[in-house]
Amino acid sequence: MALCLSAGCLKKQGHSGGHNPHPSQAWGFLASKDKDKITKAGFATPRGGAKGAYQNHVLRSNKVIVPFERLGQAPLHKYEDGFVIRLFPDQYFDAPGQPKPYFAAADAPKPGQDAFVLYRTHHQLQTYPPPPNWRVRSLSLDGVPINERSAGAIDEGEYVLRIAAHGNNAARTEGPPQGIFAPEYANENANFLAKCILAWLTAHTVDSPYVAAQTEHLEAILAYYGLFDPKEWEALGLVRSGFSSCPLCMKLIKYNELHDQIAFSDEASLLNAAEQVANATRSTVVNLFHMVPLTYSDIEHIPQNVAWGHAICNTKLGQRRCYPIAQLIADGQKVGTIDTEGIVSTFGWASQNLEMIRSPAGAVWIRIVEDHLSAEEQSMLLEYLQVFEGGE
Ligand SMILES: [Zn+2]
Ligand SMILES: [Zn+2]
Repeated sequence: MALCLSAGCLKKQGHSGGHNPHPSQAWGFLASKDKDKITKAGFATPRGGAKGAYQNHVLRSNKVIVPFERLGQAPLHKYEDGFVIRLFPDQYFDAPGQPKPYFAAADAPKPGQDAFVLYRTHHQLQTYPPPPNWRVRSLSLDGVPINERSAGAIDEGEYVLRIAAHGNNAARTEGPPQGIFAPEYANENANFLAKCILAWLTAHTVDSPYVAAQTEHLEAILAYYGLFDPKEWEALGLVRSGFSSCPLCMKLIKYNELHDQIAFSDEASLLNAAEQVANATRSTVVNLFHMVPLTYSDIEHIPQNVAWGHAICNTKLGQRRCYPIAQLIADGQKVGTIDTEGIVSTFGWASQNLEMIRSPAGAVWIRIVEDHLSAEEQSMLLEYLQVFEGGE
């Protein structure tokens, strides 16, 4: 299929209407509930939501909040839609009205310019009250105050209140949301291309109501960016035998699982999830899955890193990389057991850092705790264990 390509336009050649480098028409053949799921994957999700002054239900290509303690880590130059630094009062103030000496430096964050101070408790407000010349944050567009952030909006003011009620003190919420959770950021183009991958994977689920011919426009767009590579997707585990599959457990994904709610019996395993979303309704069986976890240190919501995967598998994987079995086999690090005769029996392949082991039959082992005992603790542990080994 030929693309327009006039001024970067990725609509079909000979299209009607204006040019568009990010045409959602490419997945226009999907049913509306599938389109909704694609749209949602392009949104930053609520992480601790309102109480962190985060903005929810907006595109990933938005201003991000960078916590002061993450400044050394965050790839600031990659946040094309801007960023603002979040300071807690005890990070900024030495004493009431007195900033720490660090903030006198020319390149240090400055509340009211590239930073804001977030008050979370009445105690913080009493201990380090905003100086008299500080104003609560506000948003304006062309000099007119606005409530919702939009392109060209200007932030002013130095602080935001997100204070829960405590004793006789009422809750206080002042100042608009300041941005999205930085690890969820994607620029407009990466966000669009990730949606193209997810739309293609949706059409290739088991029992989907679509046929391959409908994905030609998606394929042309992805090919234009050098991203259409089903062979590579098979190697990564997000496709198997031409169908979408969960990169962790490698089971094929059924179309209905994109929309079915997770069974109550499976929900228990989600309760401990670090990524539990505030006020979330129940999860669908299959969700957005990242091969490499989202972190502060890089931007990982990119088309090369997205798939559909089971909510439960997402939870089990946690903040770890999902190593594809093809990669582990290529790395060649087999693991096995050794019996008392010294006979080795291999059963799988391990990642080089021993974070994950996979068997050819689909089993996955994940390291949940790293080595952390000191030499002294190790020898104490061994002595302790010898008590059992020797018997009574
Ligand atoms: Zn065009
Ligand atoms: Zn799975």
